[in-house]
Amino acid sequence: MGKPDTATFDRLVRLVAIDGYDARPTRSILEAFSGTEMATIPVGTADDLTLAVQRARAAQTRWAATPPKERAKLLERFAALVFDHLDELMDIAQAETGKARAYAQEEVVDVALTARHYAKVGPKTLAARKVKGMIPVATDVRVRYQPKGVVGVISPWNYPVTLAASDAVAALMAGNAVVIKPDSQTPYCALAVAELLYEAGLAPELFAVVPGPGGVVGQALVATADYLMFTGSSQTGATLAEQAGRRLIGFSAELGGKNPMIVTKGADIDRAVEGAARACYSNSGQLCIAIERLYVEKPVADEFTRKFAAKVNSMKVGPDYGFDADMGSLASKAQVDAVDAHVTDAVAKGATVLAGGKKLPELGPFFYAPTVLSGVNEHMECFASETFGPLVSVYEVDSVDEAIKLANDTDYGLNASVFAGDAQEAREIGAQLRVGTVNINEGYAAAWGSTAAPMGGMGISGVGRRHGPEGLVKYCESQTIATQRFIGIDGIRGVPRKLFLKLVPLAMRATGLLPGR
Ligand code: NAP
Repeated sequence: MGKPDTATFDRLVRLVAIDGYDARPTRSILEAFSGTEMATIPVGTADDLTLAVQRARAAQTRWAATPPKERAKLLERFAALVFDHLDELMDIAQAETGKARAYAQEEVVDVALTARHYAKVGPKTLAARKVKGMIPVATDVRVRYQPKGVVGVISPWNYPVTLAASDAVAALMAGNAVVIKPDSQTPYCALAVAELLYEAGLAPELFAVVPGPGGVVGQALVATADYLMFTGSSQTGATLAEQAGRRLIGFSAELGGKNPMIVTKGADIDRAVEGAARACYSNSGQLCIAIERLYVEKPVADEFTRKFAAKVNSMKVGPDYGFDADMGSLASKAQVDAVDAHVTDAVAKGATVLAGGKKLPELGPFFYAPTVLSGVNEHMECFASETFGPLVSVYEVDSVDEAIKLANDTDYGLNASVFAGDAQEAREIGAQLRVGTVNINEGYAAAWGSTAAPMGGMGISGVGRRHGPEGLVKYCESQTIATQRFIGIDGIRGVPRKLFLKLVPLAMRATGLLPGR
């Protein structure tokens, strides 16, 4: 347990899908806790990416012909290997991102959960199925799934293990090859995933990792892949969606969020405080489903705010490769500056700092204190824009209806949380929220960790879903094979055509295909 050693990086760097990688220009990879270089990574080009896609396309034909049950066995082996290498994977995730170990564990476990889930349900979900045909009995219709081909994955730096792996395992289960462009800050997490997939038996061409700048390697991927899965900012997501649209390839994306939590007067306040602390500061708030807005009903607002501020002020923050810290570092200087800018702007315009509100350079260059603000209004940057850091604003509301209205008053629609008197009341509130996931008595993990259920965003928070059957079938082209038997569509031998045409609607009515008189 600790910062990965040089031998680990030397072993992993050999897995990049870049020919002659050791003679290429490199980029520094920083240990986020200290802000110092711990490794370098070769910088790929558009040609490297194009070659990786060509090789992936050639290998994919064989992979698509492998029975789904065999693909599932490989994913089972991969899930087991992830578990065997839990500590090493967490070390790499912490080193590249600066997150607390609890959140490194969260994402590594998510990889194993997702791989295992699709291994279990994949063969059945992908099996050809019979559906009702146009003419009962005479039209035999089967729906089957063909893989898209080469799925491109562009992944971000915040959850770099699971966002490299979990969309990929679904694409692989469906019979695709995957070419991935990991974020330039966190390529070793993707390479650590690649190593275990290869050890499980996957051909390297089927999960090719091409590090390099988004504007070069990412652009080459959207220009060549047969489908694009993107996780990152809404702005980049919109650009990529437009480009994918021009090529008429499928696209899905999980983007930003300005996620609300509602605490009603009947809620268990201590439980809500615990839930909020984890939901606002998981991975130092750099989580697309983290909570950034807290709406609390008036009768419990003082109690909640007092207890929440005390809890946040007592959080243990620090560079720790063990489980002792509640929160780690942010991932980069850019992130610290973005959070600081939101806090400075809000305070200058009259917001009150209830906890945190400052950089913590004594801990490391990218540390920022977990921060709670009150008195935030629409003139402040952090009111409506995603901070993507350890900053949350508390708002007192007069009623649940007001909380729902304010929670929905955003262009985003990713995740929400509800703490209420009882689960039924909370579910009814949840059903009125325009978000892809609602967590009750919890901030974000219950819905995210439930891999059988879809997860994704409404509005500018995303397109499509990961997890659930949706997260698998999106990587397929549905194909309908209809066989006409016994009687033709244009007539029955021996029956005059005029009579046949008169009989058709009657028969369709009789069989329930058309409405009766
Ligand atoms: P970003 O610019 O969207 O980057 C995410 C990924 O997209 C990286 O791999 C990046 O490559 C790549 N990329 C960037 N521009 C591209 C382009 N023109 N063509 C193809 N690929 C491109 O996000 P960011 O700047 O790292 O983070 C900014 C904000 O994004 C955050 O503050 C947050 O709002 C959001 N975000 C959301 C999530 C999430 O989980 N939904 C995750 C991370 C960030 P490079 O290696 O060149 O950067």
